Amino acid sequence: MSDKIQAIRGMNDILPEESHWWDFFEETVSEWLDAYGYQTIRLPIVEQTALFRRSIGEVTDIVEKEMYTFVDQLNGESLTLRPEGTASCVRAVLQHNLLYPGPLRLAYSGPMFRHERPQKGRYRQFHQVGVEALGFEGPDIDAEQIAMAARLWKKLGLSDVRLEINSLGDAASRAVHRGKLIRHFEQHLSLLDEDAKRRLHSNPLRILDTKNPAMREIVDHAPRLIDDLDDDSAAHFERLKTSLESLGIHYAINPGLVRGLDYYNRTVFEWVTDRLGAQGTVCAGGRYDGLVSQIGGKPAPACGFAMGVERILALIQEERADVSPKKTDIYVAHQGVPAFAAIVAEFLRDNGFSVILHCGGGSFKSQMKKADASGARFAGIIGEDEARAREITLKPLREEQGQFGMSLGDAVAWLRSRTI
Ligand code: ATP
Ligand code: MG
Repeated sequence: MSDKIQAIRGMNDILPEESHWWDFFEETVSEWLDAYGYQTIRLPIVEQTALFRRSIGEVTDIVEKEMYTFVDQLNGESLTLRPEGTASCVRAVLQHNLLYPGPLRLAYSGPMFRHERPQKGRYRQFHQVGVEALGFEGPDIDAEQIAMAARLWKKLGLSDVRLEINSLGDAASRAVHRGKLIRHFEQHLSLLDEDAKRRLHSNPLRILDTKNPAMREIVDHAPRLIDDLDDDSAAHFERLKTSLESLGIHYAINPGLVRGLDYYNRTVFEWVTDRLGAQGTVCAGGRYDGLVSQIGGKPAPACGFAMGVERILALIQEERADVSPKKTDIYVAHQGVPAFAAIVAEFLRDNGFSVILHCGGGSFKSQMKKADASGARFAGIIGEDEARAREITLKPLREEQGQFGMSLGDAVAWLRSRTI
């Protein structure tokens, strides 16, 4: 029996051997955000519970059963680990009056928390990168965000993600549809599961978002919101489709796409893949024109999306054999002259090289084994002779043969000609 403390189920360590995938993704995302003029915002992981209840909606999977909510023992406040980023982002924008000068484009990333059943592609702590454009009516911004996502897949080298879009209309069209939905489901009460029965009158739209295969049929035959769109939403949707076509972005209209959060209206979209089994949605978003005022701000239209980083990394790992860990340039082995070795290591770093300085003693032979195992491209060898002459001996560890003694200045030029 072991009393070792383990990580919490569904909350993963990201080990050093996986880091290069994250680094590749994060570096690509950072360039991509710059290319569209999105500024990053860093938000707290914990918020008042009321923020999520009010924005995501009381009768949703997230608020009903997935939130990590607890009472702060010190002051009795109800707090929640954020299950998503949009609500916090809008809260921060209002709190700091960021919309005052005009519309803005923001991006965030980080861990999100949902108490779900852990499985491949579904975790209790997972990561999202999200973008939000506030103060824009669209549909130009809707199209821009979709094109933006398409560009990211291209930059990441992903070929197998496809776009589904839908429109949820405005509040009035949703009210008409809601009546039709309730009548439809009432006619098939015996086919509804417990969740659906409970939501029939409180939030029938959510029934369409069910993951229960037994309800697939009745959901597929439900009245479609897209048939009840108000004129403005229908025109908005038409203009979005035209923009996507002119940008050469392929889409499929999925009338069953409703999203699991209440704040969406008009445009909604998801990017899906068949490569990840049941957890095939890698990115999702849409317009949320009512949310800013719902959280207490002056009404402002908005549009955004978030991607599931773990799911995207799973795709990258399948499609990109060429993403490899970064290698250290030089492993410095030394004996008898630790002070000089440390000075040389700093000198090489001053000149832009990455250097592991051997620490902890041991024979040259054992140090060279470590140099080899470190993956470094070169060993820098420093003994008493080198220290006296203020030199270094460089030994290529990978393709080339031999070893070469030289001054520190020559070493920089020699290494540069081999590491570029
Ligand atoms: P799903 O239908 O898979 O439960 P969702 O509609 O609840 O997803 P969103 O709230 O739209 O998800 O979050 C955006 C993206 O974040 C999803 O498309 C997915 O890629 C990712 N995601 C959501 N929940 C999880 C989770 N528990 N683990 C890993 N990734 C997740
Ligand atoms: Mg979910």
